[in-house]
Amino acid sequence: MAASSSVSTAVAYQQCIMPGCRATYDVGEVRTSCATCGSLLDICYDWDALPVPNRLKDFEAKWARRNEPLCKSGVWRFKELLSFAPDEKIVTIGEGQTPLHPSPGVSDYIGMKPGRLLLQYEGMNPSGSFKDNGMCAAFTHAHVIGAKRAACASTGNTSASLALYCCMSRLMQGVIFIGSGKISYGKLSQALDYGALTVQIAGDFDDAMQRVQQISQKLGIYLVNSVNPFRLEGQKTIMLRVLESMNWEIPDWIVVPGGNLGNSSSFGKAFHELKSLGLIDRVPRLAVINAAGADTLYELYEKRGVRWNHGEPDQTKIDGYYAELDAGAKKADTIASAIEINRPVNLHKCLRALECMHGVVREVTDQEILDAKSQVGASGLGCEPASAASVAGAKMLREEGIIDPDERVVCILTGHQLKDPTATVAYHTHDQNEFNKVLGSRGVSRAAFANRAVQVENDLDAIVRVIQLNS
Ligand SMILES: *Cc1c(COP(=O)(O)O)cnc(C)c1O
Ligand SMILES: [Zn+2]
Repeated sequence: MAASSSVSTAVAYQQCIMPGCRATYDVGEVRTSCATCGSLLDICYDWDALPVPNRLKDFEAKWARRNEPLCKSGVWRFKELLSFAPDEKIVTIGEGQTPLHPSPGVSDYIGMKPGRLLLQYEGMNPSGSFKDNGMCAAFTHAHVIGAKRAACASTGNTSASLALYCCMSRLMQGVIFIGSGKISYGKLSQALDYGALTVQIAGDFDDAMQRVQQISQKLGIYLVNSVNPFRLEGQKTIMLRVLESMNWEIPDWIVVPGGNLGNSSSFGKAFHELKSLGLIDRVPRLAVINAAGADTLYELYEKRGVRWNHGEPDQTKIDGYYAELDAGAKKADTIASAIEINRPVNLHKCLRALECMHGVVREVTDQEILDAKSQVGASGLGCEPASAASVAGAKMLREEGIIDPDERVVCILTGHQLKDPTATVAYHTHDQNEFNKVLGSRGVSRAAFANRAVQVENDLDAIVRVIQLNS
């Protein structure tokens, strides 16, 4: 690997994702869409001018230098693959120290052969979700262009992450837009504790998303939602860490929950780039899992046959579907609040990723999500409901025979268990009222894997009896 540490920003530029447009913009411009056609933007690189290693294995050399923050970060360790900022502007709070765990219990639950199911535990990030991978990148760009305020709309984890980067770096004020009643206390408590300005709008996530885009335009506040193309650059490194943990072998499947579709989009970009750089010879398949109550991607991709189609997706079908949502006043509704989104901002990029990775899309019910979540928990890696959609989706694809029991499957656990304890406790409770209050309205009727607290009077003998009876 070349020794050069400071890379000129001129090697990176922004480019419209639509092959029919391909307008380019300077990396120093703040944009979330193409000025010509309104589409999303990519960050692109002049790879020949970058010190990209010849082999992925060469990145391991950075481990020996992990006393340097940029080598320690699980994102910036791979900075040659996301070189858009000079080293001195890079912000890191130690994100991306996340492990890939084999999980015999979850493997059995899904019906895989032993050792074939792996869980990438992104809940281990500083703010407890994968969002930190992208936030450090967007935040770095905000710092490069001299922003003093950064904003997001959030179902919770983006705001927790933004608030954390703001208070740890002391570089910016964080402004957070949330919908009313749709945010878990674990996440809200982070934003409040970290001191971000928190604006609660009377509306849902999709409403908050529209407003934050208007407000950031109007007040010149830097927007860090995943329409921000720099976010996705950081999230590419989740795939690099998966490969690294697999000794640079390529898994057969990457399974990820789909909300705003930033993660799935960034995975597609990562593999596309690695393949064109000749750093890998094969691309895994992608499975994006929607919640049944927020299934726009599933509906468009699997039911209506919408494809990226080499950059010419059938926009009439997409617009038609959104018009139906509006006409029926249909709102996203799932216990998996992090993916409770009906208008995924990265839809086109995700369609592109599905093409590149020969992908499939499935939808899973809240019942399936919570059952899968309890299996993840029982295996020792707790996750929040949205994350468990990946496991529930993998199980479904295994049952359909699309995933073979012998294939190697990586499910991304996007967020930590403690983000949403309400759902977990309600699932395990013996109190039918509590269960109904939190889960009944979601169509969840049973808790097949509930681990109920045993109730006992405050009496020594009675307690002894209970323990003997249950061991
Ligand atoms: C944000 C989030 C998602 C959805 O990811 P997208 O990139 O928006 O598709 C899933 N799970 C958790 C825990 C999240 O925080
Ligand atoms: Zn364009």
